[in-house]
Amino acid sequence: MTDTLLEQKTGAENVVWDLSIFYSGVDDPAIQQDMERVSALADEWAATYRGRVASLSAAEIAEALRAYEAMMDAVGRLQTYVGLIYSTDTTSPAYGALLQKLTEYEAELEQKQLFFELEWLAMEDSAAQTVLDDPALGKYRHFLEATRRFKPYKLSEIEEQLALEKDVTGRSAWVRLFTQIMGALRFEFDGEQLTQSQILAKLHEPDREVRRKAADSITESLRARLMELTYIENVLAADKSADDRRRGYATWVSSRNLSNKANDAIVDALVSAVTESYDVVARHYELKRRIFGYDTLYDYDRYAPLPIEASERTYTWDQAREIVQNAYTAFSPQLGELVRRFFDENWIHAALAPGKRGGAFASPSVPSAHPYIFLNFTGKSNDIKTLAHELGHGVHQFLSLEKQGYINAYTPLTTAEMASVFGEMMVFDDLMRKEPDPAARLSMLTQMIEDSFATVYRQISMNRFEDGLHNARRTQGELTTEQINQLWMETQRAMFGDSVTLRDEYSIWWSYIPHFIHTPGYVYAYAFGKLLVLALFNLYQARGQAFVPQYIDVLAAGDSDYPERILGNVGVDLTDPGFWTEGLDAIRAMVEQEEQLAREVFPEKFR
Ligand SMILES: [Zn+2]
Repeated sequence: MTDTLLEQKTGAENVVWDLSIFYSGVDDPAIQQDMERVSALADEWAATYRGRVASLSAAEIAEALRAYEAMMDAVGRLQTYVGLIYSTDTTSPAYGALLQKLTEYEAELEQKQLFFELEWLAMEDSAAQTVLDDPALGKYRHFLEATRRFKPYKLSEIEEQLALEKDVTGRSAWVRLFTQIMGALRFEFDGEQLTQSQILAKLHEPDREVRRKAADSITESLRARLMELTYIENVLAADKSADDRRRGYATWVSSRNLSNKANDAIVDALVSAVTESYDVVARHYELKRRIFGYDTLYDYDRYAPLPIEASERTYTWDQAREIVQNAYTAFSPQLGELVRRFFDENWIHAALAPGKRGGAFASPSVPSAHPYIFLNFTGKSNDIKTLAHELGHGVHQFLSLEKQGYINAYTPLTTAEMASVFGEMMVFDDLMRKEPDPAARLSMLTQMIEDSFATVYRQISMNRFEDGLHNARRTQGELTTEQINQLWMETQRAMFGDSVTLRDEYSIWWSYIPHFIHTPGYVYAYAFGKLLVLALFNLYQARGQAFVPQYIDVLAAGDSDYPERILGNVGVDLTDPGFWTEGLDAIRAMVEQEEQLAREVFPEKFR
């Protein structure tokens, strides 16, 4: 981080969090004492229950899980404290060493606790069902039932151990090689050697020549490593195929759906609804081409900012706080009050600092504490969005921790972004209504549309690519670079139609995307989360204040049930393809509004 960044005055310079509810510092002797205390508790817990899970009554299982939650709360406090303090100075050897020590400590603890899940899974269905049907199980029913969904796909203990051991030199090794290749890759630009994030940022520059040169540089550097990247993609697809076959998963994406608590039918409905509305993407880019006055919009023009001055406004910390807190309060005084506590009780770290890691996140913490929010506030309009986003996570986590306790609090990927994106929408809606300048509104709206495309359409087109890749690898054997390129171009052209001309160079741009390597099948979860929020926001606009307590109940439900059941309580049916269409219609309505604004702001382009 450079000095000029530190010199900018936003008023966030002194906004740092108060972690004294955990420990007084990294040298606090209570850290070591707590680690030893929990370790002893885990030994005692294992001594009490190991080998006995199948013979426990429902009430005894609930008792064991309460003790487990108490242990995990204490570990979570250590974890939260060390994670947070480390993120504010990743260069500190003391913080780094403590983090490493804690990671190893947690792995040991987990091994001591693992028997419980294994014994529960090993139980016969009828015996397990008797326990599940017993009301004495209380709030732990869903957790225990959901855990058993993985039972049919588990291998024997020896096979599982072998798989874990060979993974280190198998799948994990290939993933790490990919990470190392991409980390070391440099991109030539005007005689300078740029990193990947630096060169990707140049695709957002107003100067078309800069964008074209950046795109060509990306192509050139990727092409130099294409042999390795093709091979890694092939090996990992084959590895996944073998794993899925042994475990008995029906399709390449079934295991991902299971951990996302989303069944195959729901995901299929989502994918079809999105691919059937690809025309809205073409409509937006066709409008963009007209505004720029280009004959053809090329792949390197996709992220070009509109030629509008208003987009570079800046905000102080107090202004940002006011905008976001007001939007939350207008939606619900209860949520507004919660947001106020984040600011007033110092649950936020927003100041820039040397050694502080980049980006933003919300740390849920544990039921005996409260969430924290981490930001790097520079005063850009994007930082307002980020603040609204992280506070959404914050209130979601606060409500579910308070209501559910440890085991049921932490939501799966598909609903984890619900309150954060909803928070962004609230603030966006508020700012749009208050903004008198149509050019500024157009600029905000275009930003929102392209964000929505990035999370919905682009992710689903990438899901189609992954689908093609895994199925082709399973039926045709090892794929050539050209075959993979072709799959990429087919799935991308299906989305853009004629609106964007994808040059041949673009055909190898699948090769840098980390999700395909790290977490196959991951990408649709983004679209799931975003469309869910757009549909919820429509419900809010339709039902008005009546919607607010329903929404708060959904947040407070945390991970206490399957998402489709929690949302079913507020009249949302995830299994209905029409539900996904509702979210997509909201995007279509934004594009229509964008077309109207564009005619108003650039009348000369529409004669
Ligand atoms: Zn988020």
